[in-house]
Amino acid sequence: MIAVLKHNVSEEQKIHLISWLKSQGLDVHISDGKDYTVLGLVGDTGKIDPELLASLEIVQTVRPVSEPYKKCSRKFHPDDSVITVGGASFGGGHFGLIAGPCSVESREQVTDIAQRVKAAGATVLRGGAFKPRTSPYDFQGLKGEGLKLLSEAKKATGLPIVSEIMKIEHLELFEDVDIIQIGARNMQNFELLRELGRTNKTILLKRGLANTIKELLMSAEYICAGGNENIILCERGIRTYETLTRNTLDLSCVPVLHELTHLPVVVDPSHATGNSRYVPSMALAAAAAGADGIMVEVHNDPLHALCDGAQSLTPEQFAKLAGKINSVRQVIAE
Ligand code: PEP
Ligand code: MN
Repeated sequence: MIAVLKHNVSEEQKIHLISWLKSQGLDVHISDGKDYTVLGLVGDTGKIDPELLASLEIVQTVRPVSEPYKKCSRKFHPDDSVITVGGASFGGGHFGLIAGPCSVESREQVTDIAQRVKAAGATVLRGGAFKPRTSPYDFQGLKGEGLKLLSEAKKATGLPIVSEIMKIEHLELFEDVDIIQIGARNMQNFELLRELGRTNKTILLKRGLANTIKELLMSAEYICAGGNENIILCERGIRTYETLTRNTLDLSCVPVLHELTHLPVVVDPSHATGNSRYVPSMALAAAAAGADGIMVEVHNDPLHALCDGAQSLTPEQFAKLAGKINSVRQVIAE
């Protein structure tokens, strides 16, 4: 249930109402928007008589919220959430450009790529250290050492960094990581989501290979429910019967998510297509569809990459793409 408060409600009146709602055993989510304040009520709202609530002088309207995701819902928070980390912003008109290698491989590799993507306009550096590989015999990442090398690249360039976590016991290794990624395979690792909900880290939550938009929102709700609303959603392609691309990029999820949630949405065309030839057009399409950012894999030597070389752009290709993304964004802003 949500209660929209009238204009010019005093802070004292607001606090009084909120403490009454809390005394009824409800969790109250407050969203102070440009035009009005929305109180989102979570818990057993059956205890509250909606007509009584609506009759209060400071309340403009009361509406039920039927969606099972509440804190992520745009009904609870009508304005776009803007997520800012280390100078990069996503949402509410801000576009983030995340680029970097699939995996951190060496100091030289990650620092060189970091400097080159930064020069091209990237705002966040990506780099996997704990890699969820389909085969146990494939390169599994440099783990803690990889995170250290990523931190060094952060220091050298000033770019904030994003890297994937696979289990909560590793959290302390992620202290210097600005954005913790939950990969597609862990989107429904509910224990991990709950634990990250208790932190104040920004989370990049990728959509699972075979998950619906609603399931993605429910996973985000697990994180929000613990009190952490610093979440960026990521579409990275879903599995369909198509085999000529690695996955099928579901770009329609961008406007759908914008309708349903206040959280920013980024698109990863690299894992979606699996082929560097298709990445630029899908990245531009994502920008045109209103995404709040993109995440692209970039490697300085794709032929010798230890992971996902086929889908990695070179720094030069990335620079060209970054320029075109700016042009597309200008067109859609008109
Ligand atoms: C990644 O971004 O490195 C990754 C493994 O992506 P996904 O979880 O989308 O497969
Ligand atoms: Mn990859």
